[in-house]
Amino acid sequence: KVRENRILNGNQWFGGGGKGRSWKWRRMLRFPHISQCMELGNTIARDYSSLCVKQPIGRQLFCLFCQSKPELRHLNVCAANDLHEFLSGAPFLQYLQSMYFERFLQWKMVERQPVTKHTFRQYRMLGKGGFGEVWACQVRASGKMYACKKLEKTHMKKRRGEAMALNEKQILEKLNSRFVVSLAYAYETKQSLCLVLSIMNGGDLRFHIYNIGPPGLEPARVRFYAAEVCCGLHHLHQRNIVYRDLKPENILLDDNGHIRISDLGLAVKLSGGNLVRGRVGTLGYMAPEVIGHEYYGISPDWWGLGCLVYEMTAGRSPFKRQGEQLTEKEMERRIQETEEVYRKTFSSETEDFCRSLLTKDPRQRLGCGRCGVEGVKSHPFFSTINFRRLDAGVIEPPFKPNPRAVYCKDVQDIDEFSTVKGVILERTDDDFYTKFNTGCVAIPWQTEMIEMGCFKELNVFGPHGSRPPDLDW
Ligand code: ADP
Ligand code: MG
Ligand code: MG
Repeated sequence: KVRENRILNGNQWFGGGGKGRSWKWRRMLRFPHISQCMELGNTIARDYSSLCVKQPIGRQLFCLFCQSKPELRHLNVCAANDLHEFLSGAPFLQYLQSMYFERFLQWKMVERQPVTKHTFRQYRMLGKGGFGEVWACQVRASGKMYACKKLEKTHMKKRRGEAMALNEKQILEKLNSRFVVSLAYAYETKQSLCLVLSIMNGGDLRFHIYNIGPPGLEPARVRFYAAEVCCGLHHLHQRNIVYRDLKPENILLDDNGHIRISDLGLAVKLSGGNLVRGRVGTLGYMAPEVIGHEYYGISPDWWGLGCLVYEMTAGRSPFKRQGEQLTEKEMERRIQETEEVYRKTFSSETEDFCRSLLTKDPRQRLGCGRCGVEGVKSHPFFSTINFRRLDAGVIEPPFKPNPRAVYCKDVQDIDEFSTVKGVILERTDDDFYTKFNTGCVAIPWQTEMIEMGCFKELNVFGPHGSRPPDLDW
């Protein structure tokens, strides 16, 4: 059932040898002269935590600075987290005067270069969404592969999707979790707005539940995916974001078999701890309080986790048999009034876990009470999961996708994306495009530079603390 993947990644595609980088990669990432960084140096916020802890290149350069100082060298700065109070004092002020900070500004200038379609190579189509297609792409300068979600301007305008697209972009750019897709670039072309996201080559959970063998997944996988989703939801909820669209097709697998939550178009930030109202989501997965037009907080997401665990275990969704045709009214009635059925594929822990999450009254539901996410994590269903290690990404997934397989429907089966005629883009649309078109997102871009080896190869200094040479390639 699984087709062969002929394009493993950019390396193979470009005949091995290189790292998938363009031969012009050094020129693409060339540092501007330090005199061109002065304005940035004067305007950048001098915030220790952002400059030396959160931004990966900033952290590396601050480490290099500390290693260059005899009085700081012994501190093992790069590993310790309890030194920040000390380091943010005098050492930080010294750092700001050093060549390492000048180098940081040079990297920041490279990061701020405009991003266009020429920044990437484009490969096969990965899927199709409501406003356009999703393609595999590769950054020419570093060789890193991503997924590019294109939102066609005319489609968005016709269906009033602009606010939704901007919402998705603005939520994604503030997140940084191994359990949620990360946004590395946002840019525009003449026809579309593009979100460049972590590439998830292993297919979505819907495909794994229904298209490989008999419907459903084995218990170890159900538990592992549920635990990772739980961590992803926790990350969102800590930032007062409700996801609202939890369902198997929005949970994607990467090459190693880890999952990430994707498609944050319906996510919403609860401002000032207020509740929201709004009937959004996918009908079969909507919580009773969403259907009932009540105000809610994060409770629909825990309901969604209940639906997901049920569906992965049973090979069908809790309120609808596979292939059954239901009216919207009937679906709503079942969700609000009927109890789901548990067959013998459910262990007693799994059944209790689903029942607790699929509690109709959100005040009684697992995850929504005072214990919050800890209540979910400490349920006997997760007794074999070490959440500290899971959070650190060191647990081996129970299933690794075959790198030679394509875990999705044949691209031929995905309809060609039609173009909308008769929609004219106007100057007033530009304001929205400008808000969207912000280029590189700092943390993922810097991570890419380090991970792909570009940082190490380019970040050379002259001998013995001389000023960084203005390298010209
Ligand atoms: P929409 O918001 O329009 O539903 P999605 O974000 O769900 O769009 O993307 C549509 C499809 O594209 C998904 O169902 C999936 O097949 C594919 N896709 C989306 N994001 C990625 C990604 N990061 N990696 C791989 N495939 C993806
Ligand atoms: Mg989707
Ligand atoms: Mg969406």
